[in-house]
Amino acid sequence: MMAEETLFSKIIRREIPADILYQDELVTAFRDIQPKAPTHILIIPNHLIPTTNDVKSSDELALGRMITVAAKLASEAGIAKDGYRLIMNCNQHGGQEVYHIHMHLVGGKPLGPMLS
Ligand code: C5P
Repeated sequence: MMAEETLFSKIIRREIPADILYQDELVTAFRDIQPKAPTHILIIPNHLIPTTNDVKSSDELALGRMITVAAKLASEAGIAKDGYRLIMNCNQHGGQEVYHIHMHLVGGKPLGPMLS
């Protein structure tokens, strides 16, 4: 069964507005619309993967790119040295709301313990 597109596909195709910070042939990064910290950026693969459960070995290049782009954007945001958090939520218990995998890059303040 074909996975259903989300609004993130429209952001990638620039059909709806988003503050896009980076885009290449594999990934797109844009500011989260409801930031939870001074820096809150989403990095997503350009092709639809609904959840991390659906990741295939053929996706490894895009997923690796997501991390290198996260590190580049963290450096550009000036938060690399102090540190930041990369988060991927999966399904209901993980708190996933948009079913197009995305990595949250969150930082710019002390974030405290991860599970609280
Ligand atoms: O990991 P999760 O699925 O919960 O995160 C979805 C994220 O997508 C939220 O942080 C939400 O603010 C963000 N979002 C966005 N732009 C939209 C819709 C959702 O940045 N148009």
